[in-house]
Amino acid sequence: MADEKAIAYIKKCLEAGKMREAIDASQITKVPLSKEELEAYIQKYLDSGWMSKALEGSKAAGIVLPQDTLIKCINKYLEDGKIYSAFDASKVIGIPLPKEKIEVTARECLLKGKFTSGLEAYKLIKEKPNEDDLLVCAKICFKEGRLSQGIEAYKLINKTPPEEELVMCGNFCLNGGQITQGLEAYALAKRTPTKELLRACGEACLLEKRTDDARKSFVAAQKVDEMKNTNIEVKEISLNELRDYVNKSWKSPGKKVCPDCQNDKDIRDRFFVLSRCPENNEEEERLDALMKKRHGIVEFCVEMDAFGDGRGLICSSVCVNCGSKNVVMIIDDVGYLEIKKK
Ligand SMILES: [Zn+2]
Repeated sequence: MADEKAIAYIKKCLEAGKMREAIDASQITKVPLSKEELEAYIQKYLDSGWMSKALEGSKAAGIVLPQDTLIKCINKYLEDGKIYSAFDASKVIGIPLPKEKIEVTARECLLKGKFTSGLEAYKLIKEKPNEDDLLVCAKICFKEGRLSQGIEAYKLINKTPPEEELVMCGNFCLNGGQITQGLEAYALAKRTPTKELLRACGEACLLEKRTDDARKSFVAAQKVDEMKNTNIEVKEISLNELRDYVNKSWKSPGKKVCPDCQNDKDIRDRFFVLSRCPENNEEEERLDALMKKRHGIVEFCVEMDAFGDGRGLICSSVCVNCGSKNVVMIIDDVGYLEIKKK
């Protein structure tokens, strides 16, 4: 019994990085402690970034830790973005960390979406991260559902996160059952998630037995139905902006030929994002009238649910040759809805 207690105590000391205490206890209690075991713990301390504990332990155990092993460890910390561990370790072994090395690590962290590590590294060298790197980092954060980090990154460059990235973040959160954060992301994007997505979120919450979150999701899904009678908002968007969140090689649908001059080469596309898709003839007619009145567009087609969040995309074309806006889009893809001149 006494042995068991001693073994437990020694193990506790070793786990906490107190190797000298463990060795003392093993000598007093006569519980053996093998060199292999001690070496394994020292390696564990090194892997966890506990350089000073590893050094103290190795001294107590009479195990030599070669300098280049330690330097390799520090480089590994840097690779893993464990900036503070690298910084502390370099202080412990008395080899200062070159500023350039920290800067490289800091940047790599940001480019991999490790927001906190990246910022910590920049703080250590008293430098500011570059704007483009922060943008890359923010995008990854949003993509991986880390809303607050994404927002924080945009705050650092005094910019508002783009709707599309917020929606992407919201989708990730809702798919994973994070209703509060998902709704927050959508609210910031001034968008409403689809009721299907909200229901899926509710189901995910139920699976994890988070009933309050599930209820919140289902209530939100119900509200979407009630909101259906609101107007469809139309916003023009450039092809470049569009490609930023659809994908770089995206092409507008169909072949286009100008009815007025037969030109089929210089057709300029225009795109409009719809806050939601028209759901009946009446709404199609209203959208048709609005496009004519506000944008002078007669012929267009709507890609339903173009972004996976219930919004639609209008594609329209203008003939560069004669300026005609009556360019016909020949739609042969399923999933497009042509709205004809009434
Ligand atoms: Zn023409």
